[in-house]
Amino acid sequence: MTECSFCDGDTCARARYFVLTEALDTGEHRWNKTTVGVHERTGKLETRYVCGYVRNYPRDAEATFEPFTQDGHDYALVSRDYMNIEVLDLETGEFIGREAYLDDPELSDREVYARHFCPVDILVPCPIVLRGGHRGEDGKWVLDGTETSYGGDGTWGLVAGCVWGDDFGWKLQYLDLSELPMVRRDDRFGVVEIEVPLTDHVDIDRIGAGILDVTEVKHARFTRETGERR
Ligand SMILES: [Zn+2]
Repeated sequence: MTECSFCDGDTCARARYFVLTEALDTGEHRWNKTTVGVHERTGKLETRYVCGYVRNYPRDAEATFEPFTQDGHDYALVSRDYMNIEVLDLETGEFIGREAYLDDPELSDREVYARHFCPVDILVPCPIVLRGGHRGEDGKWVLDGTETSYGGDGTWGLVAGCVWGDDFGWKLQYLDLSELPMVRRDDRFGVVEIEVPLTDHVDIDRIGAGILDVTEVKHARFTRETGERR
């Protein structure tokens, strides 16, 4: 099994699902596309094919496929169109939703374009379970059956990316996944420059307390709910 780069476990959705990609040559003077096959590890050697899709960009297909679990159901955030994020139901292989602003009838085409954010890496923090216990008289650790869960719960995530024409470095934005299949993205943190992969720059230790520790070019700390700097 493969370990998750966020929780180090091998059972969360980030560890179970993976993609195999292949460059798709679209001819001269055009960006190549990428064909992506989604698979689930179901045993030591067994896998299940979930679905396939084409991403209209030659890079970042792996980093823009982000599997997660919400209320016991497996989904992935995916970027078929390099300018947006969609929701894939990993249990049916169907695309079920996308970023809310794309379907806002109040917005003109120009306003829709102005809101785009091209993702290069997406992170939906997985839950991290700590098994409680105590040290026995012989000095060995004894599990007492209690579990404490912290980390993410699949209702929110983070995305690194950029807006066209804003070419210096990746910025960090917040993803609200609490109303799936709709995804709401916002810049509650203000302008935060970040490097990828996000798993190397977002610290898990205080997520349970509602605090995001992010390594910007310099270190920064936010309240997750409000985006306020601390
Ligand atoms: Zn994980």
